Amino acid sequence: VPVSRIRNFSIIAHIDHGKSTLADRMLQDTGTVAQRQMKEQFLDNMDLERERGITIKLQAARMNYTAKDGQNYVLNLIDTPGHVDFSYEVSRSLAACEGALLVVDSSQGVEAQTLANVYLALENDLEIIPVLNKIDLPGAECDRVAQEIEDVVGLDCSDIIQASAKIGLGIDDILESIVQKVPPPADTVDRPLRALIFDSYYDAYRGVVVYFRVMDGKVKRGDNVRLMASGKEYVIDELGILSPTQVEVEELHAGEVGYFAAAIKAVEDARVGDTITLVDEPAPEPLPGYTEAKPMVFCGLFPTDSDQYPDLRDALDKLKLNDAALSYEPETSSAMGFGFRCGFLGLLHMEIVQERLEREYDLELITTAPSVIYRVTTIDGEVMEIDNPSLLPDPQQREKIEEPFIKVEIITPENYVGTLMDLCQTRRGIFKDMKYFTQNRTCLIYELPLAEVVTDFFDQMKSRTKGYASMEYQMLGYRKDHLVKLDILVNKDPVDALSTIVHRDKAYYVGRALTEKLKELIPRHQFKVPIQAAIGAKIIASEHIPALRKDVLAKCYGGDISRKKKLLQKQAKGKKRMKSIGTVDVPQEAFMAVLKIG
Ligand code: GDP
Ligand code: MG
Repeated sequence: VPVSRIRNFSIIAHIDHGKSTLADRMLQDTGTVAQRQMKEQFLDNMDLERERGITIKLQAARMNYTAKDGQNYVLNLIDTPGHVDFSYEVSRSLAACEGALLVVDSSQGVEAQTLANVYLALENDLEIIPVLNKIDLPGAECDRVAQEIEDVVGLDCSDIIQASAKIGLGIDDILESIVQKVPPPADTVDRPLRALIFDSYYDAYRGVVVYFRVMDGKVKRGDNVRLMASGKEYVIDELGILSPTQVEVEELHAGEVGYFAAAIKAVEDARVGDTITLVDEPAPEPLPGYTEAKPMVFCGLFPTDSDQYPDLRDALDKLKLNDAALSYEPETSSAMGFGFRCGFLGLLHMEIVQERLEREYDLELITTAPSVIYRVTTIDGEVMEIDNPSLLPDPQQREKIEEPFIKVEIITPENYVGTLMDLCQTRRGIFKDMKYFTQNRTCLIYELPLAEVVTDFFDQMKSRTKGYASMEYQMLGYRKDHLVKLDILVNKDPVDALSTIVHRDKAYYVGRALTEKLKELIPRHQFKVPIQAAIGAKIIASEHIPALRKDVLAKCYGGDISRKKKLLQKQAKGKKRMKSIGTVDVPQEAFMAVLKIG
């Protein structure tokens, strides 16, 4: 079809507002995927995604649609992940589009994530089409939510589309308005090739499969292409469209969306945001907006059984082929033995990687508490980046420590403002602003140290607001603060994997809370185990775990079988994930204990 009949769009929605269900509906109604082929939620094709109900990796789908004007149109849907950890990838897939559907659950309303992505879409000059979803629900409040979108986002909602992705209402209206309102791509087929990579994945047989949008010019099978950021050159072996399964074609033109394979060895050689051009006729400038996603959160991963170390390395090597943002390097801990220090985009990314290592590679791991990158200036003027608290130079050697700060935007019903301000305050937050949109949508803006947010901030926010609040964050930069290293000694031995960096004013509190928590978590042994917290040589808190009595069940009052069972189960479970440190067995939970204290 001619460029004038192509529409490239994505769907912006808060988690659970119905993005995947709507995408599936559109694929069905345009006959792209037959009903019987339809797996539940075609676009979320990773198990983990489906379980968590989130989209981690972007996917795309091409649909043919005959509009009311009788013409055939090609609609390319480019899906976006719905989590802040992946906002760079979201921005690149939006850059590949001319329009976006803004899907809002009509029984809920506008959320922080929705807003953040709307801003990204506006930055990319996209035409935004608001859609009220889930109008079949008895709790749907179309007028209120439409008004909210007008007030908060500033879009005209007088003729807003009302839809139910679940029962299939309003889908035609949506398809029709994409044709009417989203502008066609610019016809720049005469310019030198520039194509934008918005996703890629590793395939064991073909190498990396790259998803791209042709912005200028054209590309065909057999072309010799260069990736402008990496500088690498490849010959395209396979070129195609996503309908939504891969179908080979000979050539793709400006405005079209497709994939190619070119025996690329790892996704880091074809990063999201890079520009593809022709070696023989290169574009003078790459497309704007390329950056390399940088890990923000770090943790140590150690096999419980040190024999699994080589398996862990192989598994990380394999995951890395498919995940350019994952970083890892060997780490040797005096307490934990051999493992890896791994870097992630954020907490969700970290959880995903850990879960895949355990599920898909059958590894049993001990994970240490997440840390951020601290910037340390030594007295000699050297600046070091420290992603592991145990590597912090001694106080005598340090001139200053700086830590990353973020700007956090929380959207919440008004009645939770108090508890959220309290949460931010205890996390060393600096209040910046409060905006009142509607009774249900109050926006709080704080500046917070990233380290205080990578712990259990998100969970706390959710539980304090019964799940109603949503948040979004943005990096601000590094700031100096009075930070100290808190060490933990188990049975008089310092355990490097339990060291944390905390604010001076919180050190005593954290030290006490942590030793108390560890006392609960570390099982009793045949001997008494002292647990101490220290700053340098100074012990600031101490507890001890009493020695084990001969029979654990003896202390249960007679006869209560269910309680006995529980105790035995608890012991069995505790045994599953332990690391021996000296003569003391320390369970996985102990390494995360620091996350459980405010
Ligand atoms: P996503 O996180 O935005 O991709 O949301 P999903 O498409 O996974 O939908 C989240 C939940 O809402 C699922 O249980 C869907 O079945 C449900 N859902 C989606 N659209 C509708 C709708 O129009 N009406 C109702 N009642 N439920 C819907
Ligand atoms: Mg989804």
